[in-house]
This record gives sequence, structure tokens and C-alpha cells, in this order.
Amino acid sequence: MITPLRLLILGGTGEAAALASALAERFGAALGLVSSLAGRTGTVPDVPGRVRIGGFGGADGLAAYLRGEMVHAVIDATHPFAARISDHAVRACAAAGVPRLTLVRPPWVRRDGDRWTEADTMGGAAARLPSLGRRAFLAVGRQELPAFARTAGVRFLVRLLAPAPLDLPESEVVIGRGPFGLEDEIRLLRRHSIDVVVAKAAGGEATYAKIAAARALSLPVLMVRRPLPPAGPAVTTIAAALDWTAAVMAARGAAHDRDRAHTAGNR
Ligand code: NAP
Repeated sequence: MITPLRLLILGGTGEAAALASALAERFGAALGLVSSLAGRTGTVPDVPGRVRIGGFGGADGLAAYLRGEMVHAVIDATHPFAARISDHAVRACAAAGVPRLTLVRPPWVRRDGDRWTEADTMGGAAARLPSLGRRAFLAVGRQELPAFARTAGVRFLVRLLAPAPLDLPESEVVIGRGPFGLEDEIRLLRRHSIDVVVAKAAGGEATYAKIAAARALSLPVLMVRRPLPPAGPAVTTIAAALDWTAAVMAARGAAHDRDRAHTAGNR
């Protein structure tokens, strides 16, 4: 009998958790599921299968993990801005000969009434910010805040997942974890007299309300573009990721049958 397909999900996103649940539901015991997290937030999602936490030690470390754990397939469901781990996944899977799929969120689309200014990098956004407003809502993740440390003349309202010391000249912190609602976001922006929103072009629904709130209040949004997506096959829906997994399973089953026929023929 063929052993379960060992599938590694590179996670840390709501989509990755939803994917793990959907995979377990569709494939059950035919799948050995491991979800990998960087371990930045200190929270562990309640997902089916095993959860491992912490970096692999670069692309070579990930390749060694794939070989050591005999992983059959990888789905990269990390955040669109988590470019380093995605690059490592590309290189490690190529080195270890493991099929890999990227599950990527569809990007947000500009709508009537949106006042977006786009920047290629967080540093570019920081340089541009004083020309757009004086009271900025910064919901870009703690790791990105150093880019704004020398931005003068702007007061920041920073949203974080958990309290952390900030090295920003004039700032106030609000703690929150998505999904966020439109009315709450409008209230927050009004209460703090925000006149510009800084955001990553993350896509997805959990953090879209701040973009819709900016549109409702006619505020400019300084939108940092996504890094280039990883090379290779990519899908935008969980259903498509399930189909890809089914195809990997079928290919493995066919290879298994060929090997057995070959062995029987040699007897
Ligand atoms: P990154 O810059 O691409 O990765 C930095 C390092 O963190 C990687 O080289 C790797 O360390 C480790 N790492 C990242 N994701 C990992 C995972 N899923 N499992 C094991 N190790 C991982 O990524 P990041 O921007 O720091 O994001 C870290 C995690 O938070 C990701 O899982 C991502 O999905 C999630 N996240 C990121 C953002 C964002 O805006 N960047 C937003 C929400 C959630 P080694 O080189 O040692 O293997």
C-alpha cells in the first residue's frame, strides 16, 4: 500500500490555515500534513496535522529538511511580502526535487474613489509620506517600522499584533488582529484624525477594511507594491491548491504502480 503523501505547508497566514483544514477534509489519512511557521507572533493556529515552528536555516536548511523528512510536496502559502522564505522554497524544492506550488492572494483592485499612491519599497513610501499627510495610519507590520524612523513632520498611529517598543519619533500604538470591519476602521481613522493610510498591497479580505475606510473618508493611501512573486506554478484559490495536490498524489500513485510492475517483471 502506498504511504500517505507528506505535504509541507509554508504558512503564517489565514489562507495557510484554511488550506490545511481543506486538505485534511478532502484527503484525510491519505495525507501527512505539516504546517511550518516562522514563529514571529507567538501564536499557533489550531490546524490539522503537525505544526513546526522556526526558520530552517536558509534554502540549504530547507532542502535538508525536505530530504530528511522525506517531504513529497510543498505548498508555499506565506504572505505575499514574505519574499525570502518563498525564494528559499523555490531553491530548496528545486535542489531536493520536490514539487512546489504557490498559493497567493489575489491583489486588491483599485476602485472608483480610491486615492492610491504606489511605492516600490517601504523606504520609498517613507520618503514620500510627508508630501501626502501629517497624521499617518501605519499598518504594515512591526518589521517594517524602522523604514519610518527618520520620517519628519508626521505623527504615526501604528497598529501592531502585540505591544512592542517603537523607535518612531511621534507615535501612538493600537493593538489589533484582523479581520477588521469597515465601520470600526472608519471610527479609528476619524478618532485619530488620520489624513493618510500607509499599507502593503497585501490583498485578501482580513485587512481590506482600512482601504475601504480610506475610500469612504476620501483619504489618500500610500500603497507599497508587492515584491515579485516566486517563479513556478501559482494558484489563487484553495480549491485549485486541492486539485494540484490531487494531481501530485495521482502522479505518485502512477509512479508507485510502475515500480511495482517493474519489480514483478524482474522476478
Ligand atoms: P521572510 O522575510 O520571507 O522570511 C524570513 C525568514 O523567516 C526566512 O528566511 C525563514 O528563516 C523564516 N521563515 C519565514 N516564514 C517561515 C515559515 N512559514 N516557516 C519557517 N520559517 C519561516 O518572511 P517574513 O516577512 O519574516 O514573514 C514570516 C512569516 O510571517 C511568514 O510565514 C509569513 O507568511 C507571515 N506573515 C508575513 C507578513 C509580512 O508582511 N511579511 C504578514 C503576515 C504574515 P530561515 O531562512 O532560517 O529558514
